[in-house]
Amino acid sequence: MRGVSVSGREGLQASLESVIGEQCPPGTMGALVEAACRHAFAVPPAWRGRLGAPGSPLWRQCVPDVRELEAPAGAASPDPLDETRHAVLPGAIRRYPDRLLVLLSDRCAGYCRFCTRRRMVGRSASPAVAGQETVPPDAVAVPAERGAVTGWLRAHPEVRDVLLSGGDPLMLPDDEIVAWVREIRAVRPGMLIRIGTRMPSFAPERITDALCRRLVEHGPVYVNVHFNHTDELTEAARNACLRMTALGLIVGNQTVLLAGVNDSVSQLRELFFGLLSCGVRPYYLHIMDQVEGTAHFRVPLARAAAIWEELALTTSGMAVPRMMIDLPDGGGKIQYMRGMLLEDRGGGQLVFRNVAGGLSQYRDAGAGAPM
Ligand code: SF4
Repeated sequence: MRGVSVSGREGLQASLESVIGEQCPPGTMGALVEAACRHAFAVPPAWRGRLGAPGSPLWRQCVPDVRELEAPAGAASPDPLDETRHAVLPGAIRRYPDRLLVLLSDRCAGYCRFCTRRRMVGRSASPAVAGQETVPPDAVAVPAERGAVTGWLRAHPEVRDVLLSGGDPLMLPDDEIVAWVREIRAVRPGMLIRIGTRMPSFAPERITDALCRRLVEHGPVYVNVHFNHTDELTEAARNACLRMTALGLIVGNQTVLLAGVNDSVSQLRELFFGLLSCGVRPYYLHIMDQVEGTAHFRVPLARAAAIWEELALTTSGMAVPRMMIDLPDGGGKIQYMRGMLLEDRGGGQLVFRNVAGGLSQYRDAGAGAPM
């Protein structure tokens, strides 16, 4: 492979060996290092020592898998949501007329193997990944520049919803996070301000009283957390969520439906009730995006719909998030339910009505899966 120094690869291998040690299947270390060169590898601090056996829910989410190297199938893309084409500024993406996504950092406290932005996330944290010449540089440079973003927002009064994301915005120091919120609030008092973070699961101690209080001063601030499995809901994680809600942040959760991690009614029900018990409303259940190197995480739509319907029929409404599918090529996010499919062209090629009223083609996981 070009562009990755020997020391970078050796460093990655040492890091992988320290985590998976003797549990590495014979003959696969080289491929795992290669996968870690394509997308940053780091076990979240709160998950260290808790990964369990290979294939466990935490393990699958953060340990590289040889299947990440498989040739992309069908429509899989490094940028399935077409974010690069929708960048209005470095680090600022506008995919909907009234919303702006702002990327404050490319770093996270751990790296999810299924990350939709794996083409760019973790580059600055991992010299091996940053030096990977086989991945083209992303036009959506991070981090965004605060003055440029607030100036742009002033010139676009139709935008009323700003999502601060990344990477994880909470990788920044408190002063910078608070400055972002304060300055966006100054642009328009009624702006909907959201922060997307995985810190309550990855590093719950990052959710301090001081940070919560400072954000609330510029509220309302909505925090979208991200939990995928009940094993993430440790006492520390639960306390982090309770801290946020007790101090006045408004917290919702996004879950990604992941094969072999949480693709069962019983697991999702426990997860969503667990979140509600610490003040967090389950908000979205995402169908996996068609990201290169992540096909082994995808759940066919028919199965996803069956899981969601069973959940909705047997569970308190508060514990049933909307199931969303983000259509490829910038088609936008729509709620997915059986009956929304316009056309099944066979071979897994499906057609949906997108948010702009046009048609979006979608390739299902497992070609030809019945709807
Ligand atoms: S925390 Fe979010 S941005 Fe970071 S690797 Fe996971 S999914 Fe990607």
